[in-house]
Amino acid sequence: MSARLDQYGVIGHPVAHSWSPFIHGMFAKQTGQELTYRLYDVAPEQFRERVLDFFAGGGRGLNVTLPHKPAAAALCNELSARAERAGAVNTLSFDGRVISGDNTDGAGLARDLISNLGLTIARRRVLIVGAGGAVRGVIAPLLELDPVELVIAGRSPERAQALAAEFTDLGPVRGCALPELSLGAFDLLINATSASLSGEVPEIPHEAVNATTVCYDMAYAKGETAFVRWARNQGCGRAVQGWGMLVEQAAESFQIWRGIRPETGAVLALLSQPHNPAVKKPSPLAAPTAS
Ligand code: NDP
Repeated sequence: MSARLDQYGVIGHPVAHSWSPFIHGMFAKQTGQELTYRLYDVAPEQFRERVLDFFAGGGRGLNVTLPHKPAAAALCNELSARAERAGAVNTLSFDGRVISGDNTDGAGLARDLISNLGLTIARRRVLIVGAGGAVRGVIAPLLELDPVELVIAGRSPERAQALAAEFTDLGPVRGCALPELSLGAFDLLINATSASLSGEVPEIPHEAVNATTVCYDMAYAKGETAFVRWARNQGCGRAVQGWGMLVEQAAESFQIWRGIRPETGAVLALLSQPHNPAVKKPSPLAAPTAS
């Protein structure tokens, strides 16, 4: 009788847009690891119970996406230093005894910005729009890159200000209200809102963008996201979607789970060819019971 494959997945709400099953499937093939990786669409009120069920049923690891990252941090038995600092978890692991939480979002974003896109953050002005779970994970790693300032702008200004206040010991970060933003142009503007998932663009003042601004959408889609289209219309220098962050944070999670680091270049190259038949739609959602 063949042994049951190790089970992994991504849990979110919504989650059908996620390409993580495709990416982890490519990583598993590339590294010769045998595992399954599924999508789990779970509403916030069921999150804790469903995660515990998944691990009780033999699951080994879960990626966590919106809106569950802070809730994931709250259910862990132990947290990595970067997850504790973020107050948010995107990678859960279970060893049969302890649920451990880590956060690979910041490392994934930094690797994409620096290694894949060749950007310089040191002494640059950086604006993040949004103040949710993903932003929690990227503030400290962005501050490590030494920007002259990091502004977090949210449609809920108190949320953006409170979030920034948690990180002021690490560098020049502050929060403000999105519609009141009148701070001139930024070198890097990161859209970390979930607006792209419904084809919307946050109300970002035009003055935030000039001809050298790099506009980065954490969201990703086959074809342009609404934010990338908006950024081009503002005359930005470069507009990029979050495929690179997605693949890099996934590689870091894969290494945590399997102890082997997959090579990301080939996966990213494939994802940049939307018409390649090898780039298939994400796997269907897993059945309601996560185990
Ligand atoms: P959350 O649900 O935790 O937070 C969403 C944030 O978006 C909130 O701050 C919310 O504001 C804000 N928001 C939503 N709609 C609007 C709008 N129309 N205008 C202004 N603000 C808005 O999500 P996450 O932080 O986990 O994820 C955010 C995005 O980043 C998602 O699109 C996700 O897919 C993407 N992401 C991509 C990754 C990658 O690897 N490429 C990794 C992680 C995330 P409020 O606080 O007022 O509710």
